[in-house]
Amino acid sequence: MTSLEVVRVIVMGSREYEDCDTVIRGLVRLRYAHPRARLVVVQGECPTGADRCARTFVTQARARFGWDVEGDPFAADWDSCGDDCPPYPHRVPRLPGDVVHPGVLPTYCPGAGPRRNARMVAAGADVAHAYPLATSRGTRNCMRLARAAGIRVEEFAGART
Ligand SMILES: [Zn+2]
Repeated sequence: MTSLEVVRVIVMGSREYEDCDTVIRGLVRLRYAHPRARLVVVQGECPTGADRCARTFVTQARARFGWDVEGDPFAADWDSCGDDCPPYPHRVPRLPGDVVHPGVLPTYCPGAGPRRNARMVAAGADVAHAYPLATSRGTRNCMRLARAAGIRVEEFAGART
């Protein structure tokens, strides 16, 4: 079934946010508010946290309920530096077992996350669901970007697990 209306939602949250029930409940509520729309779930492709919860929703909504839901992932390119990178050494050693900065080089650019967030917000959305934890600088930054772009940001409280 093809839907005419499209509702884009950006899910942004801590990589340590693992309360998937809350993330999925927020998306289910949005789906019920727009039952005839195609729901496009935008997220930053972090292997853990709120991004993972959002991907789980997309998979389950399609496979188990046949909902018109699709994902629009924005992965960060942790290997590459950007034009906004400082001239001094700023790359961070990639420690063994680091799964949240995937790449092939021995170091990653910490600016890749903010650059990804800017692209994700610039692509536009109708609403953002935010799941920050106290330490979530990146998420707070993404929330500011979204608000500045005129995207309504709904902040959800949640617990670190
Ligand atoms: Zn860099």
